[in-house]
Amino acid sequence: MNIIKQKAIRLFETAMAKTGTVLAIRAWEPATFFEVDVHFPDMDMSGWKRVQHIKIRVAPGVYRDYTPAGWDEDIRTCTLYINAEQNGPGSRWIKSLREGDSITYVGVGATFHRPADYGEMVVFGDMSCIGHYLALQQLAGGRGITGAITIAQESHREEFAEYFSWKIQPVRQRDVGGLHSILKWTKDKPLANSNVYISGHIPTCVQLRKELKRREDSPLGILVQGFWS
Ligand SMILES: Cc1cc2nc3c(=O)[nH]c(=O)nc-3n(C[C@H](O)[C@H](O)[C@H](O)COP(=O)(O)OP(=O)(O)OC[C@H]3O[C@@H](n4cnc5c(N)ncnc54)[C@H](O)[C@@H]3O)c2cc1C
Repeated sequence: MNIIKQKAIRLFETAMAKTGTVLAIRAWEPATFFEVDVHFPDMDMSGWKRVQHIKIRVAPGVYRDYTPAGWDEDIRTCTLYINAEQNGPGSRWIKSLREGDSITYVGVGATFHRPADYGEMVVFGDMSCIGHYLALQQLAGGRGITGAITIAQESHREEFAEYFSWKIQPVRQRDVGGLHSILKWTKDKPLANSNVYISGHIPTCVQLRKELKRREDSPLGILVQGFWS
């Protein structure tokens, strides 16, 4: 990175950045998926009618988006659910993070996803979307959400099923974004009265939306929030 860019980033961070403190980290087995409890005393969650995301500094001048879930307004804590199967600055950062560390982030932004006013809610995505849909579930209160999350590792699918008492099912991921498995899951499910939420791998999101729109019982709405490509 050139010196001017470095200086610009430093100025931007000084003006905009806030911090949080890591309270606890739990790794799933194998350790490529992490739950991180964080105290964010200054986080602006005024938009918490939609699922939010924050940009976290994962290396000098490098930011990645993650989703606050389990937001507790009284004690200003949340949990981040971070996938680290890939080799990138975000996954290297989470693998090095320890209890007591400080997290730097800029901004809190809204995603397209909020609970639908009526109809069923059906969600699809990969492991990077777990926190996103836990946040949607929190906003939806007791309303049931169904759907499928694609997960490659068998032990992670077991952990998901044991850990979350959720109607969302863990299904085996057979391709990069899980398209094949999600299409199989949706095949015999009626969707005409459903609002479908899609997030995760962007090409999978685009293709899945196309396929679902083609159905005779096409859903009430399809809301896409791409994460990575
Ligand atoms: C609004 C929003 C909210 C998000 N919330 C979360 C969240 O709560 N938890 C979370 O884990 N992620 C979340 N993401 C996705 C996360 O920001 C990206 O996956 C991030 O790019 C991963 O960063 P990285 O530096 O590890 O890999 P990158 O440097 O971005 O990518 C390295 C390589 O890995 C591939 N890759 C990237 N992500 C994945 C993945 N998840 N699985 C498999 N391969 C991948 C890329 O295609 C690339 O080839 C969110 C993204 C957005 C836009």
